[in-house]
Amino acid sequence: MVRDDNFSQKIKCLYPGDTFLMEPLSDHVTWKIGGPADVLHMPSSVPHLKNVLEIIVEKEVPLTIIGRGSNLLVLDKGVRGLVVKLSRLKDIRVEGNEILASAGVSLPYLSRIALENSLSGLEFAVGIPAGTAGAVINNAGAHGGSMQDIVKDVTVMDLSGEIRILDYQDLAFGYRQSSLKNRKNYIVLKARLGLQKDHRHRIRDKMERYMEHRRQTQPLGAATAGCVFSNPKEGAAGYFIERAGFKGHRIGDAKVSTRHANFIINTGNAKARDVLILMDKIKRKVHENFGIILENEIQILGQGSEDFGR
Ligand SMILES: Cc1cc2nc3c(=O)[nH]c(=O)nc-3n(C[C@H](O)[C@H](O)[C@H](O)COP(=O)(O)OP(=O)(O)OC[C@H]3O[C@@H](n4cnc5c(N)ncnc54)[C@H](O)[C@@H]3O)c2cc1C
Repeated sequence: MVRDDNFSQKIKCLYPGDTFLMEPLSDHVTWKIGGPADVLHMPSSVPHLKNVLEIIVEKEVPLTIIGRGSNLLVLDKGVRGLVVKLSRLKDIRVEGNEILASAGVSLPYLSRIALENSLSGLEFAVGIPAGTAGAVINNAGAHGGSMQDIVKDVTVMDLSGEIRILDYQDLAFGYRQSSLKNRKNYIVLKARLGLQKDHRHRIRDKMERYMEHRRQTQPLGAATAGCVFSNPKEGAAGYFIERAGFKGHRIGDAKVSTRHANFIINTGNAKARDVLILMDKIKRKVHENFGIILENEIQILGQGSEDFGR
Protein backbone atom coordinates (compact mmCIF):
# COMPACT_ATOMS: atom_id res chain seq x y z
CA MET A 1 0.00 0.00 0.00
CA VAL A 2 1.09 3.62 -0.44
CA ARG A 3 2.23 5.10 2.88
CA ASP A 4 -0.84 7.25 3.58
CA ASP A 5 -3.76 4.90 3.06
CA ASN A 6 -6.18 7.33 4.71
CA PHE A 7 -7.37 8.23 1.21
CA SER A 8 -8.63 4.70 0.65
CA GLN A 9 -10.79 4.77 3.80
CA LYS A 10 -12.15 8.17 2.82
CA ILE A 11 -13.15 7.00 -0.66
CA LYS A 12 -14.48 3.69 0.68
CA CYS A 13 -16.65 5.54 3.25
CA LEU A 14 -18.06 7.88 0.59
CA TYR A 15 -18.66 5.21 -2.07
CA PRO A 16 -18.58 1.78 -0.39
CA GLY A 17 -20.19 -0.10 -3.30
CA ASP A 18 -17.82 1.34 -5.90
CA THR A 19 -14.50 1.06 -4.06
CA PHE A 20 -12.41 -2.10 -3.74
CA LEU A 21 -9.26 -2.45 -1.65
CA MET A 22 -6.37 -4.63 -2.90
CA GLU A 23 -8.50 -5.54 -5.88
CA PRO A 24 -6.90 -8.00 -8.38
CA LEU A 25 -6.64 -6.12 -11.66
CA SER A 26 -6.58 -9.43 -13.50
CA ASP A 27 -10.38 -9.29 -13.09
CA HIS A 28 -10.52 -5.93 -14.88
CA VAL A 29 -8.40 -6.45 -17.99
CA THR A 30 -9.06 -8.70 -20.98
CA TRP A 31 -5.67 -10.47 -20.62
CA LYS A 32 -6.72 -11.64 -17.10
CA ILE A 33 -3.19 -10.95 -15.86
CA GLY A 34 -1.83 -8.66 -13.16
CA GLY A 35 -1.51 -7.97 -9.45
CA PRO A 36 -3.77 -5.84 -7.25
CA ALA A 37 -4.55 -2.15 -7.18
CA ASP A 38 -4.14 -0.64 -3.71
CA VAL A 39 -7.55 0.87 -4.37
CA LEU A 40 -9.80 0.37 -7.39
CA HIS A 41 -12.64 2.80 -7.76
CA MET A 42 -15.40 2.64 -10.38
CA PRO A 43 -17.34 5.94 -10.41
CA SER A 44 -20.86 5.91 -11.77
CA SER A 45 -21.08 9.64 -12.52
CA VAL A 46 -18.85 12.59 -13.33
CA PRO A 47 -19.58 14.55 -10.08
CA HIS A 48 -18.70 11.39 -8.16
CA LEU A 49 -15.39 11.16 -10.08
CA LYS A 50 -14.69 14.80 -9.25
CA ASN A 51 -15.20 14.19 -5.52
CA VAL A 52 -12.73 11.31 -5.58
CA LEU A 53 -10.16 13.39 -7.47
CA GLU A 54 -10.36 16.08 -4.81
CA ILE A 55 -9.43 13.56 -2.13
CA ILE A 56 -6.44 12.09 -3.93
CA VAL A 57 -5.03 15.34 -5.30
CA GLU A 58 -5.00 16.77 -1.80
CA LYS A 59 -3.12 13.68 -0.56
CA GLU A 60 -0.82 13.37 -3.62
CA VAL A 61 -1.87 9.80 -4.29
CA PRO A 62 -0.68 8.28 -7.61
CA LEU A 63 -3.57 7.98 -10.06
CA THR A 64 -4.05 5.52 -12.95
CA ILE A 65 -7.07 5.61 -15.23
CA ILE A 66 -8.25 2.55 -17.09
CA GLY A 67 -11.11 1.96 -19.50
CA ARG A 68 -12.22 -1.55 -20.46
CA GLY A 69 -8.66 -2.87 -19.99
CA SER A 70 -8.33 -4.30 -23.49
CA ASN A 71 -4.87 -2.94 -24.25
CA LEU A 72 -3.14 -3.39 -20.90
CA LEU A 73 -0.49 -5.62 -19.39
CA VAL A 74 -0.70 -5.12 -15.62
CA LEU A 75 2.51 -6.21 -13.92
CA ASP A 76 2.54 -8.92 -11.26
CA LYS A 77 2.96 -6.67 -8.22
CA GLY A 78 0.01 -4.55 -9.31
CA VAL A 79 -0.50 -0.80 -9.24
CA ARG A 80 0.10 1.52 -6.29
CA GLY A 81 -2.26 4.29 -5.32
CA LEU A 82 -5.68 4.71 -6.89
CA VAL A 83 -6.85 3.05 -10.09
CA VAL A 84 -10.04 4.53 -11.51
CA LYS A 85 -11.92 2.36 -13.97
CA LEU A 86 -14.39 4.33 -16.06
CA SER A 87 -16.43 1.50 -17.54
CA ARG A 88 -19.56 2.58 -15.60
CA LEU A 89 -19.86 5.93 -17.41
CA LYS A 90 -22.19 4.63 -20.08
CA ASP A 91 -24.49 7.47 -21.21
CA ILE A 92 -25.15 7.55 -24.91
CA ARG A 93 -27.18 10.08 -26.92
CA VAL A 94 -28.00 10.15 -30.61
CA GLU A 95 -28.48 13.68 -32.02
CA GLY A 96 -29.18 13.62 -35.76
CA ASN A 97 -26.06 12.23 -37.41
CA GLU A 98 -23.99 12.51 -34.24
CA ILE A 99 -23.56 10.22 -31.27
CA LEU A 100 -22.38 11.52 -27.90
CA ALA A 101 -20.84 8.58 -26.02
CA SER A 102 -19.46 8.50 -22.48
CA ALA A 103 -16.03 7.05 -21.69
CA GLY A 104 -17.21 3.56 -20.75
CA VAL A 105 -19.54 2.82 -23.68
CA SER A 106 -18.08 -0.19 -25.46
CA LEU A 107 -17.37 0.06 -29.18
CA PRO A 108 -19.43 -3.06 -30.05
CA TYR A 109 -22.45 -1.50 -28.26
CA LEU A 110 -21.80 1.87 -29.89
CA SER A 111 -21.71 0.19 -33.32
CA ARG A 112 -25.04 -1.48 -32.57
CA ILE A 113 -26.62 1.87 -31.65
CA ALA A 114 -25.25 3.34 -34.90
CA LEU A 115 -26.74 0.44 -36.86
CA GLU A 116 -30.15 0.80 -35.17
CA ASN A 117 -30.13 4.49 -36.17
CA SER A 118 -28.95 3.77 -39.75
CA LEU A 119 -25.73 5.67 -39.13
CA SER A 120 -22.59 4.61 -40.98
CA GLY A 121 -18.97 5.18 -39.85
CA LEU A 122 -18.64 2.82 -36.87
CA GLU A 123 -18.66 -0.46 -38.81
CA PHE A 124 -14.88 -0.88 -38.30
CA ALA A 125 -15.42 -0.82 -34.51
CA VAL A 126 -17.86 -3.71 -34.25
CA GLY A 127 -15.29 -6.22 -32.92
CA ILE A 128 -13.00 -3.95 -30.90
CA PRO A 129 -13.61 -4.51 -27.15
CA ALA A 130 -12.56 -0.97 -26.19
CA GLY A 131 -14.34 1.72 -24.23
CA THR A 132 -15.03 4.94 -26.13
CA ALA A 133 -12.34 6.87 -24.20
CA GLY A 134 -9.64 4.21 -24.62
CA ALA A 135 -10.53 3.97 -28.32
CA VAL A 136 -10.14 7.72 -28.83
CA ILE A 137 -6.87 7.85 -26.88
CA ASN A 138 -5.34 4.98 -28.87
CA ASN A 139 -7.05 5.96 -32.12
CA ALA A 140 -8.31 2.37 -32.30
CA GLY A 141 -9.01 1.11 -35.77
CA ALA A 142 -9.48 -1.84 -38.11
CA HIS A 143 -10.51 -2.65 -41.70
CA GLY A 144 -9.15 0.69 -42.96
CA GLY A 145 -11.14 2.84 -40.50
CA SER A 146 -10.23 4.37 -37.16
CA MET A 147 -11.57 6.74 -34.52
CA GLN A 148 -9.92 9.72 -36.17
CA ASP A 149 -12.39 9.38 -39.06
CA ILE A 150 -15.38 10.05 -36.81
CA VAL A 151 -14.31 11.97 -33.69
CA LYS A 152 -15.52 15.58 -33.71
CA ASP A 153 -14.58 16.57 -30.17
CA VAL A 154 -13.73 15.10 -26.80
CA THR A 155 -14.71 16.28 -23.32
CA VAL A 156 -11.96 15.93 -20.71
CA MET A 157 -11.54 16.69 -17.03
CA ASP A 158 -8.21 17.77 -15.58
CA LEU A 159 -7.02 16.77 -12.12
CA SER A 160 -8.47 19.93 -10.58
CA GLY A 161 -11.90 18.87 -11.83
CA GLU A 162 -12.08 21.49 -14.59
CA ILE A 163 -13.90 20.30 -17.69
CA ARG A 164 -12.97 21.38 -21.22
CA ILE A 165 -13.68 20.36 -24.78
CA LEU A 166 -10.82 19.42 -27.11
CA ASP A 167 -11.61 19.62 -30.79
CA TYR A 168 -10.32 17.44 -33.61
CA GLN A 169 -7.15 19.51 -34.19
CA ASP A 170 -6.18 19.31 -30.51
CA LEU A 171 -6.17 15.52 -30.67
CA ALA A 172 -3.29 15.17 -33.22
CA PHE A 173 -4.27 11.67 -34.30
CA GLY A 174 -1.74 9.27 -35.81
CA TYR A 175 -1.46 5.50 -36.20
CA ARG A 176 -2.80 4.17 -32.82
CA GLN A 177 -1.85 7.53 -31.35
CA SER A 178 -3.37 10.78 -30.17
CA SER A 179 -2.18 13.74 -28.15
CA LEU A 180 -4.08 12.26 -25.18
CA LYS A 181 -2.05 9.05 -25.11
CA ASN A 182 0.70 10.13 -22.77
CA ARG A 183 -1.05 13.10 -21.16
CA LYS A 184 -1.79 11.70 -17.76
CA ASN A 185 -3.38 14.97 -16.59
CA TYR A 186 -6.57 14.57 -18.64
CA ILE A 187 -9.39 12.15 -17.99
CA VAL A 188 -11.56 11.56 -21.03
CA LEU A 189 -15.26 11.80 -20.15
CA LYS A 190 -17.01 11.58 -23.52
CA ALA A 191 -16.64 11.92 -27.26
CA ARG A 192 -18.84 13.36 -29.98
CA LEU A 193 -18.80 11.24 -33.13
CA GLY A 194 -19.92 12.39 -36.57
CA LEU A 195 -21.55 9.70 -38.77
CA GLN A 196 -23.54 9.58 -42.01
CA LYS A 197 -26.98 8.21 -42.83
CA ASP A 198 -26.92 5.03 -44.90
CA HIS A 199 -29.11 1.99 -45.57
CA ARG A 200 -29.26 -0.26 -42.55
CA HIS A 201 -28.71 -3.44 -44.57
CA ARG A 202 -25.47 -2.00 -46.03
CA ILE A 203 -24.17 -1.15 -42.56
CA ARG A 204 -25.17 -4.58 -41.23
CA ASP A 205 -23.51 -6.41 -44.16
CA LYS A 206 -20.25 -4.62 -43.55
CA MET A 207 -20.33 -5.37 -39.81
CA GLU A 208 -21.05 -9.04 -40.45
CA ARG A 209 -18.17 -9.25 -42.94
CA TYR A 210 -15.78 -7.62 -40.47
CA MET A 211 -16.86 -9.93 -37.63
CA GLU A 212 -16.46 -12.97 -39.88
CA HIS A 213 -12.96 -11.81 -40.81
CA ARG A 214 -12.09 -11.57 -37.11
CA ARG A 215 -13.50 -15.03 -36.41
CA GLN A 216 -11.32 -16.44 -39.22
CA THR A 217 -8.10 -14.65 -38.30
CA GLN A 218 -8.08 -13.98 -34.52
CA PRO A 219 -8.35 -16.13 -31.38
CA LEU A 220 -11.73 -14.66 -30.39
CA GLY A 221 -12.90 -15.63 -26.92
CA ALA A 222 -9.35 -16.21 -25.63
CA ALA A 223 -7.81 -13.99 -22.92
CA THR A 224 -5.66 -11.55 -24.92
CA ALA A 225 -5.02 -7.82 -25.28
CA GLY A 226 -5.33 -7.77 -29.06
CA CYS A 227 -2.16 -7.12 -31.06
CA VAL A 228 0.90 -7.03 -28.81
CA PHE A 229 3.16 -5.13 -31.24
CA SER A 230 2.36 -2.27 -33.60
CA ASN A 231 2.80 -2.99 -37.28
CA PRO A 232 6.22 -1.73 -38.43
CA LYS A 233 6.46 0.17 -41.72
CA GLU A 234 7.77 -3.03 -43.39
CA GLY A 235 4.42 -4.86 -42.95
CA ALA A 236 2.28 -6.77 -40.47
CA ALA A 237 4.04 -7.58 -37.17
CA GLY A 238 2.21 -10.94 -37.08
CA TYR A 239 3.74 -11.94 -40.42
CA PHE A 240 7.31 -11.44 -39.15
CA ILE A 241 6.58 -13.12 -35.80
CA GLU A 242 5.12 -16.13 -37.62
CA ARG A 243 8.11 -16.29 -39.99
CA ALA A 244 10.43 -16.19 -36.99
CA GLY A 245 8.75 -19.44 -35.89
CA PHE A 246 6.82 -18.29 -32.84
CA LYS A 247 3.30 -19.57 -33.53
CA GLY A 248 2.36 -21.81 -30.60
CA HIS A 249 5.53 -20.90 -28.66
CA ARG A 250 4.88 -20.59 -24.93
CA ILE A 251 6.47 -19.38 -21.70
CA GLY A 252 4.46 -20.67 -18.73
CA ASP A 253 0.81 -20.10 -19.57
CA ALA A 254 1.55 -17.32 -22.07
CA LYS A 255 1.30 -18.68 -25.61
CA VAL A 256 1.63 -17.13 -29.06
CA SER A 257 -1.66 -17.76 -30.84
CA THR A 258 -1.54 -20.33 -33.63
CA ARG A 259 -4.23 -18.33 -35.42
CA HIS A 260 -2.60 -14.87 -35.30
CA ALA A 261 1.06 -14.60 -34.25
CA ASN A 262 0.70 -11.02 -32.96
CA PHE A 263 -1.69 -12.22 -30.23
CA ILE A 264 -0.39 -13.74 -26.98
CA ILE A 265 -3.00 -15.85 -25.17
CA ASN A 266 -3.21 -16.33 -21.42
CA THR A 267 -4.07 -20.02 -21.46
CA GLY A 268 -4.74 -20.20 -17.72
CA ASN A 269 -2.60 -18.58 -15.09
CA ALA A 270 -0.02 -16.60 -17.10
CA LYS A 271 2.04 -14.03 -15.23
CA ALA A 272 3.03 -10.66 -16.65
CA ARG A 273 6.60 -11.88 -16.31
CA ASP A 274 5.88 -14.79 -18.70
CA VAL A 275 4.42 -12.39 -21.26
CA LEU A 276 7.39 -10.02 -20.96
CA ILE A 277 9.90 -12.86 -21.44
CA LEU A 278 7.99 -14.03 -24.50
CA MET A 279 7.77 -10.50 -25.91
CA ASP A 280 11.49 -10.02 -25.36
CA LYS A 281 12.32 -13.28 -27.19
CA ILE A 282 10.08 -12.29 -30.10
CA LYS A 283 11.61 -8.81 -30.38
CA ARG A 284 15.16 -10.16 -30.37
CA LYS A 285 14.51 -12.86 -32.96
CA VAL A 286 12.53 -10.61 -35.31
CA HIS A 287 15.34 -8.07 -35.12
CA GLU A 288 17.98 -10.75 -35.70
CA ASN A 289 16.14 -12.31 -38.66
CA PHE A 290 14.68 -9.27 -40.40
CA GLY A 291 16.40 -6.19 -38.91
CA ILE A 292 13.00 -4.94 -37.72
CA ILE A 293 12.47 -3.32 -34.33
CA LEU A 294 9.04 -4.18 -32.98
CA GLU A 295 7.38 -1.57 -30.76
CA ASN A 296 4.79 -2.43 -28.12
CA GLU A 297 1.18 -1.72 -29.03
CA ILE A 298 0.04 -2.88 -25.58
CA GLN A 299 0.58 -0.55 -22.64
CA ILE A 300 2.27 -1.72 -19.45
CA LEU A 301 0.98 -0.65 -16.04
CA GLY A 302 2.30 -1.04 -12.53
CA GLN A 303 5.15 -2.74 -10.74
CA GLY A 304 7.04 -6.04 -10.96
CA SER A 305 9.30 -7.66 -13.57
CA GLU A 306 11.26 -4.39 -13.57
CA ASP A 307 14.25 -6.08 -15.14
CA PHE A 308 12.36 -6.20 -18.43
CA GLY A 309 11.79 -2.45 -18.56
CA ARG A 310 9.01 -0.97 -20.68
C1 LIG B 1 -9.67 -9.25 -28.78
C2 LIG B 1 -9.12 -7.86 -29.00
C3 LIG B 1 -9.17 -7.29 -30.25
C4 LIG B 1 -8.68 -6.01 -30.45
N1 LIG B 1 -8.74 -5.47 -31.72
C5 LIG B 1 -8.30 -4.22 -31.92
C6 LIG B 1 -8.38 -3.63 -33.22
O1 LIG B 1 -8.88 -4.22 -34.16
N2 LIG B 1 -7.90 -2.37 -33.38
C7 LIG B 1 -7.36 -1.67 -32.34
O2 LIG B 1 -6.96 -0.50 -32.54
N3 LIG B 1 -7.25 -2.20 -31.10
C8 LIG B 1 -7.71 -3.45 -30.86
N4 LIG B 1 -7.62 -4.01 -29.62
C9 LIG B 1 -6.93 -3.26 -28.55
C10 LIG B 1 -7.82 -2.35 -27.66
O3 LIG B 1 -9.19 -2.70 -27.75
C11 LIG B 1 -7.61 -0.88 -27.99
O4 LIG B 1 -6.27 -0.48 -27.79
C12 LIG B 1 -8.51 0.07 -27.19
O5 LIG B 1 -8.35 1.37 -27.70
C13 LIG B 1 -8.28 0.09 -25.68
O6 LIG B 1 -9.42 0.68 -25.06
P1 LIG B 1 -9.78 0.39 -23.53
O7 LIG B 1 -11.03 1.12 -23.19
O8 LIG B 1 -9.79 -1.06 -23.26
O9 LIG B 1 -8.57 1.11 -22.82
P2 LIG B 1 -7.58 0.53 -21.70
O10 LIG B 1 -6.86 -0.63 -22.27
O11 LIG B 1 -8.30 0.36 -20.42
O12 LIG B 1 -6.57 1.76 -21.59
C14 LIG B 1 -5.78 2.16 -22.69
C15 LIG B 1 -5.08 3.48 -22.35
O13 LIG B 1 -6.04 4.53 -22.27
C16 LIG B 1 -6.00 5.15 -20.97
N5 LIG B 1 -7.40 5.44 -20.64
C17 LIG B 1 -8.47 4.61 -20.78
N6 LIG B 1 -9.60 5.28 -20.50
C18 LIG B 1 -9.24 6.54 -20.17
C19 LIG B 1 -9.96 7.72 -19.80
N7 LIG B 1 -11.29 7.73 -19.70
N8 LIG B 1 -9.27 8.86 -19.55
C20 LIG B 1 -7.91 8.88 -19.64
N9 LIG B 1 -7.17 7.80 -19.97
C21 LIG B 1 -7.84 6.65 -20.24
C22 LIG B 1 -5.35 4.14 -20.05
O14 LIG B 1 -4.67 4.77 -18.99
C23 LIG B 1 -4.36 3.46 -21.00
O15 LIG B 1 -3.20 4.24 -21.11
C24 LIG B 1 -8.12 -5.27 -29.38
C25 LIG B 1 -8.08 -5.87 -28.10
C26 LIG B 1 -8.59 -7.14 -27.90
C27 LIG B 1 -8.54 -7.73 -26.52
